[in-house]
Amino acid sequence: MRIAFGGLHTECSTYSQQIQHWQDFTIAAGEALAHQHAPLFAAHPQAEPVPLFHARSIPGGPVHRPTYEGMKHKFLKALGAATPVDGVLLLMHGAVVTPGLADAEGDWISAVRAVVGDHTPIALAYDLHGNVTQQVIDNIDIFAAYRTAPHIDTDTTRARALDMLVRTIKGDIKPFVGWAPVPVLLPGERTSTEDDPCASLYATLPKIDKTPGVEDANLMIGYVWADEARATACAVVTATDNTACRTAVSQIAQSYWQAREACCFRVTTDTLDALLPQIKAALAENTGQSGPLILADSGDNPTGGGVGDRSDVLAAFLREGLRGAVFAGISCATALPKLMAMETGATCQIEVGAALGSCSPLLRASATLLAKSGNAAAAKDQAVLVEIAGNRVILTADRRPFHNLRDFEAFGITPADERCLVVKSGYLSPQLAPLASPALMALTDGAVNQSITTLPNTKRTMPAYPFAKEFQWEPEAKLSSRAFQMELDLELGTP
Ligand SMILES: [Zn+2]
Repeated sequence: MRIAFGGLHTECSTYSQQIQHWQDFTIAAGEALAHQHAPLFAAHPQAEPVPLFHARSIPGGPVHRPTYEGMKHKFLKALGAATPVDGVLLLMHGAVVTPGLADAEGDWISAVRAVVGDHTPIALAYDLHGNVTQQVIDNIDIFAAYRTAPHIDTDTTRARALDMLVRTIKGDIKPFVGWAPVPVLLPGERTSTEDDPCASLYATLPKIDKTPGVEDANLMIGYVWADEARATACAVVTATDNTACRTAVSQIAQSYWQAREACCFRVTTDTLDALLPQIKAALAENTGQSGPLILADSGDNPTGGGVGDRSDVLAAFLREGLRGAVFAGISCATALPKLMAMETGATCQIEVGAALGSCSPLLRASATLLAKSGNAAAAKDQAVLVEIAGNRVILTADRRPFHNLRDFEAFGITPADERCLVVKSGYLSPQLAPLASPALMALTDGAVNQSITTLPNTKRTMPAYPFAKEFQWEPEAKLSSRAFQMELDLELGTP
């Protein structure tokens, strides 16, 4: 059986001034894409992987429309050339925004359906921060989304989708998808699956999978930083029985609705000004603390869609005379060429902030070069470690997160040995979270501002919690139009 696969994977904040173009994406196609996904297909030796086109970027601002259309064209052209195929596996995030399209994933997936026709199953593997619409549901047969945030189950999610697709092609199951939007829009930092209530909610999903007539149960948190009509949480279930599907969808949707007010930040979260005294104490010598205070500059988190070039927190440290912290990192493309050309130990004046177009205030500072990384051949990967007023600051050419220990080690920094790290992050990554003593999250400004009820809100479907709090709601399970077509086919005796 021939299974075509690929897709477009990013999430886009409509509050970001950065526009994503081709060069912001990592593209894989052909043999390279097949090689990346060889472990996924290894469990299904009867399946022949047919790699199409896959584009992935660090979350950011909206995708330039010609870039989106160009990528869709590449994908559909590869799919058309590969047909006939027995099934399609789409590896998507689910939160693309591109100007002029109200439902980018719905547009992409319905175009795939138009190429392969009604009788080829389409499986969709999604991020739980993706947005789902009736158009998405009506064009797929199989749906599986992450069940962890921070995400550590990307591979198993794709394996769930592929396994259902293979069984569908073999004729073992005839699945369809049902869903129910839930009028709740919360950031990932209040819905981590490592803490209750979401830990418990997600723990029930594998149990619901075992219900007769249900194949795969999903709770979608949705993407909160896109001011779009489609933005919503939802329950999505892949099933083989209508009643079982509706029951499971309603149960999952109701469980999230009931838990909405218990979804809180799990670390100390406050304005930067309110957190500064605690930071000042941690930076004072001889405090005897066991590990680094890790401060998340949450509004500018590039893995949530932030621009990653803001200097507000560094400016506050300088204003308060705080020394001894490590900042990792700040995108500062404008200063990188000058710094990369300098000798280690040299000092120059630089401007930090808004290098990629955010509304960050501009910080003028004297920087002493401590270390360089990368070379002119890969300008996007260039980064430097500089000292600014007693703090070490990693400045990068491109937007990039510092979530893994090796990101720091490249500059000779061992996070566990530091007194204070400042990272552009929401919830801390699996490698940093265990080190934090304590973890603090600053409600900073930026494209992924965590104070979501203060965000400009012109297109979201209302009412939705927490934008509105006093309203009643009951889940309404809706099945894919393909489920009704299957019933009709059965009735008429058509295949
Ligand atoms: Zn996500």
